[in-house]
Amino acid sequence: MTNRPRSRFNTVIDPEAVEEVKKLVLVKRKVVITCHVSPDGDALGSSTALCGVLKSLGKDVKIVTADCAPKSLLFLPGVRDIVSHTREPERARKLIEECDLIFCLDFNDMKRVDRLGEFIEGSQAARVVIDHHLGDALPCDVLISRPEVSSTSALLYIFLYQAGWASRLTRATAADLYTGMMTDTGNFSYNSNDPDLYVIIADLLRKGIDKDNLYKLVHNNASESALRLNGYAQYRANYLLGGRLALITLSGQELKEFDYNKGDTEGLVNMPLTIPEVQWSIFMREDPGEVVKVSMRSKGDFPVNLVCQELLGGGGHINAAGGEFRGSLPQALDFILESVSRYEHLLTPRQGGSSH
Ligand code: 5GP
Ligand code: MN
Repeated sequence: MTNRPRSRFNTVIDPEAVEEVKKLVLVKRKVVITCHVSPDGDALGSSTALCGVLKSLGKDVKIVTADCAPKSLLFLPGVRDIVSHTREPERARKLIEECDLIFCLDFNDMKRVDRLGEFIEGSQAARVVIDHHLGDALPCDVLISRPEVSSTSALLYIFLYQAGWASRLTRATAADLYTGMMTDTGNFSYNSNDPDLYVIIADLLRKGIDKDNLYKLVHNNASESALRLNGYAQYRANYLLGGRLALITLSGQELKEFDYNKGDTEGLVNMPLTIPEVQWSIFMREDPGEVVKVSMRSKGDFPVNLVCQELLGGGGHINAAGGEFRGSLPQALDFILESVSRYEHLLTPRQGGSSH
């Protein structure tokens, strides 16, 4: 029996790209790692894991994000050291300006890092992208983009393995990667049939992670008001296109009434998909500043990334995507309601064939 994952990981990423990244890490000293706004488990897990590994290599490394981590992910030890632009704008700008290597993890569009985008674009630092989103890549020196891998965290593990650095993962950084793999696959309920995912998990378990506890830490931290808000939103959901499209909205006023905290509606958009007939689910949340955050989920071949890109200039994955609408919730709702019929032909016809 060997403790090492199968050697097929050696060719998942072009070995030349892996060598180029290793060379950059060797010659550069000040490193910044960044990921997308409203960072999720995958964005933060991959960032904190890479940060730990680079520190073990003697690098001066900081994670810089556009905004803060959600409460549910504050248990990840590395998250406490993150510099967020919302809290420390000057420090965030300076770190990016003064570093000589930037890792962009889990995004492929500069709009996804808000204000950090202009700093990253203006920086002279070498840029490495490790990502799994569909669509055009970010301009960079080395690109590691594999949309068929279900999380950036799993892809980062494979990179570390190929680089000969997987042995540098500790119990803490293994937990970071597991958290990203778990959250980006809905706790291994979608995009999770690749046997190699479980080869990776076996290695992370050998590092001492407690996967059962990680599930609890991420998911079992709701509040009474959050549960009431989610129940209310589900009660008021609309079902359109013959019950195949679910539409949930929450206005700024409703959020206030339920004492909304960031992260409270995480997972809400997935709930309608538990109805067998629902193939497409949309959740619209009115955020401060006349912005409506739109999240979409789907089953099967229905491409919500394409819908989000066409309607909102957003993106994501075929079954999970998002974007933003600039304007009020009623305006966003009108716009979405006018647009959904354009995509009806991409849905599977209803059982029985009737469109009523
Ligand atoms: P969520 O709905 O959970 O915010 O995001 C679902 C997926 O869509 C994630 O993979 C996320 O990276 C992507 N996504 C969400 N919002 C945007 C957006 O505004 N632009 C792009 N390009 N992707 C987004
Ligand atoms: Mn991801």
